Amino acid sequence: MKRDNSKLISDIGELTALFTDAANLDALLANIVKMIAFYMKVEVCSVYLFDDDTQMLTLRAAKGLRAGSIGKVRIKSGEGLTGIAFKELRAVCEGDTARHPDFRPVPGINDEKYCSFLAIPILRGQNRIGVMALQSVKRDYFSNEDVNIFRAITSQLVTTIEMAKLLFSFDHPRLDPVVDLKPTRLKFVKGRVGAVGSAMGDSIVFAPLALGDFKVPKGRKVLTLDDFRRAVALTEKELHEMQKAVEEKLLDVVALIFSAQIMMLKDRAMLGAMEALIVKGSPPQDAVRAVIGEYVSRFERMTNEYVREKRYDVIDVGRRILTNMAGRIDSRDQYVGKVVIARELLPSDIMKLSLQKVGGVVLLSGGVTSHVAVLARSLNIPLVVVDEPRLLTVTDGSCVLLDGAMGNIFIEPSEAVVRAFREKEKSRADVKRIQKALLNETRTSDGVRVTLLANINLLADLDVAKAFKAEGVGLYRSEFPFLLRGDFPSEEEQYVIYRRLVESMKGREVTFRTLDVGGDKMLSYYDNTREANPFLGLRSIRFSIKNRDIFIHQIRAILRASFDADVRIMFPMISSVDEFVVARDMVRECARALKSEGRPYQPRVKIGAMIEVPSILEVIDELASQAEFFSIGTNDLIQYMLAVDRTNEKVAEFYFPHHPAVLRAIKRVADGALRHQRDISVCGDMAHDPRYIPFLIGIGIRKFSLDARYLPRIQQCIAGIDTGKAGVFAAELLGKSSVSETARLLDHAVF
Ligand code: PEP
Ligand code: MG
Repeated sequence: MKRDNSKLISDIGELTALFTDAANLDALLANIVKMIAFYMKVEVCSVYLFDDDTQMLTLRAAKGLRAGSIGKVRIKSGEGLTGIAFKELRAVCEGDTARHPDFRPVPGINDEKYCSFLAIPILRGQNRIGVMALQSVKRDYFSNEDVNIFRAITSQLVTTIEMAKLLFSFDHPRLDPVVDLKPTRLKFVKGRVGAVGSAMGDSIVFAPLALGDFKVPKGRKVLTLDDFRRAVALTEKELHEMQKAVEEKLLDVVALIFSAQIMMLKDRAMLGAMEALIVKGSPPQDAVRAVIGEYVSRFERMTNEYVREKRYDVIDVGRRILTNMAGRIDSRDQYVGKVVIARELLPSDIMKLSLQKVGGVVLLSGGVTSHVAVLARSLNIPLVVVDEPRLLTVTDGSCVLLDGAMGNIFIEPSEAVVRAFREKEKSRADVKRIQKALLNETRTSDGVRVTLLANINLLADLDVAKAFKAEGVGLYRSEFPFLLRGDFPSEEEQYVIYRRLVESMKGREVTFRTLDVGGDKMLSYYDNTREANPFLGLRSIRFSIKNRDIFIHQIRAILRASFDADVRIMFPMISSVDEFVVARDMVRECARALKSEGRPYQPRVKIGAMIEVPSILEVIDELASQAEFFSIGTNDLIQYMLAVDRTNEKVAEFYFPHHPAVLRAIKRVADGALRHQRDISVCGDMAHDPRYIPFLIGIGIRKFSLDARYLPRIQQCIAGIDTGKAGVFAAELLGKSSVSETARLLDHAVF
C-alpha cells in the first residue's frame, strides 16, 4: 500500500479544515487538490469545471501544474484524456500516457513528463460538473483500488465542487431592487400536527427576499465598509463552529451541511459586488439585501430543482451578515426560540434549525408523514403543516404561537389566548409523571404480553427509545443517513452507523429496513430527472434491486455490523413474491461473499417484508411461505389503498386509517401471518394512535413499533385493554361498510 487513503475518505474533520483555512473559493479548491495529491502521493491533482455557456472544461485548481494556468486552460468535451472522462462519463486510467493515441499534452501546463494519468468525472445524478484528475511521473502507477478510492473521494466532494462551479458562473450580478412583501393580517390558522410540542416566539419567514427589517445598532448613525467586513468574518466563524457542532452531535448524518454558506462567504464576486455598492455610497445593509436578492433570483431561474433549493442558503447567508452587522444578537442565536414559517424545507434545513435551537416550524407543504416531519420529530422540533400561503406574508418578528398538540397557529395572539395556552401546557406536564410510571414490560389488562419497539430515524432517537424502555428497534429507517448526506455513504460509513445502533441496543432485537428512497424521500444527488409520479416510481426496494451496488454495500454493512447481535432485515414496499425472493437472494449472496472473505458477519439474520402495497394482500400466504416476518407500514398501505398522497395537505381529509378496506386489509395480513406462524408487527403511525390500538390488539397484533415519544402513552393505553373485549370490538368494526360507520364506532368505543 503506497498511500493511506482510508483516513481521507472517512474523516469529515479533514474536509472541514480545508474550509477554515481558505481565504476564498480559489484557495479552497487549491487546498482540496493539495490534500488529495498528498494522500494519493501524486505530483499532480487538478480540477476542471464545465462551463455551461462556453461548453468547455476550465482548469480551476491544480497542484503541480504551472502557476498561472488556473482559469486559462480550457478543454473541449471529448478532447484528450480529461475530455474523454467527461464526455463518456467514465474513469480514464493510463499507465503510460505517451503511448495513448488520445493523449495530448495540454499547452501551457507542463504536463508532458507525467506518465500515469487518472481522471474521474464529477457528477451529481445526470448533472455533469467537471473532472478531477491525478498524474504521476511513475509509470503504471494507479491500481484498480486507486480508481475506486479516487472515485469515492470525488463523490465526497461533489457538493462542494458543484457549489464552487455555480458561484464561479455567477460572476457579475445584475442588481434588482429588493421587493418588500406586504404584511399580513392573518390571526389564526388551523393546521395538522407534524411533530408534537409547542412554541411561542418571533416569526422568521423563509421566503425569497424576505430578509427582515434591518435596524442600525443603537448609538450608531451609519454603518461602514469595516462594519460589513467584520460581520462577514464573524458569520464565517460562526458557520464553522456550527459545522463542528453538527459533526459531534449527529454522527450518522454528518455532512458538510454548512458548506454552501461558507463557500458563499469565500466568493469574491458576491462579496465584491456588496463591497462595490458600499464604496459607491450604498448603506451596507442595502448592499447586502440587493446582492442577495439578485443571487436568489438567479438561483430561482435555475432549471435544476436541487440547485434552485440553494436559494435558501443564500437567504440564510444574507440574514446572518445582516444580523451580525446589526450586532443585536449573535447570528448563531438568530433562530433560538423562533418560529420559522417556510413553504418547504430540506432535511438539512431542519438539521441546521435544530442545531440553532429553533422553537418551532410551520411548513406549507409536505404532509405530516413526510420525511421532513419525521425528522422534526426525531430532532424534537414542534412542527405544524398547513396549506395557507398567506402565512408567508407574516412580517418577520411577529409573535407566533404554535400549538403543536392541536395544530393551531396564532399570529400576534391575544393575552387571553396566551393564558389559555399556558394553562394547557401545565396539564400536559403530566406526561412526566407517566414516564416515571413506565413498566419494563407491557401487558393488556388481562395479562397478555405485548412488545413495544421503537422506530429510529436518527441515532439521536436512541436516547428517547432507551429512556422510554423500548424493547428493541422495530423499524430503523436506514435512508436517513442517505438523505442527509451529500452522497451515498460508503459500506464503511454505514458499518460505523449500524454498529453504533446495534451496540446501543445491547442484545435487544433490531430490525433494519433497507433503503426506502423515492416518493418524497428523493436523493438530491442521485438523479435529477424528475419522475411524473415519484410515489409510483423507482423507489424503495425497486431502487435497491436496480442499483445493485448500493444495495450490496448496505446489506454487507448490516450483516457485518450485527455479527454478534439479534437483527432482522426487512424490505420496504414489497409488491410481489418475486421481488421479495430477488432481494432475499441478494442478502444470501452477500452473506456468502462475507464468509468467503473470512469477515465476521451475522449468518442467522431473519429476513422479512413490509406490507405497504395492496397487491401483496392477494399473495399473502405465498409471501408468508418465503418471508420470516411481516411488518405493516400503515402509512403507505393507506396511501396506496386509498390513492391518497400522504404528503399532500389538499387531500389529507381523505386519508382514512379507519376506511373499512384498510381495516380489513390489516386483518387479512394478521390472519396470514398467524396461519403461517410468522411474526407480525405494525410500524406505521397507526401504532402510536390510541384510537386504533384496541382494533389492532383485537385482531391479534402483539408487536408494535412506534416513535419512541409515544411509548408511555401506548403502554398505558394497552394496559387498559382486555383482549377478549378488543376481539369483539374488532369484529364489530370489521362488519361496518362505510367510513362514517367505522368512525362513529371508534369515536364511541370505551375501554
Ligand atoms: C409506513 O409506510 O407505514 C412506514 C412505517 O414507513 P415510512 O413511514 O417510513 O414510509
Ligand atoms: Mg412506508
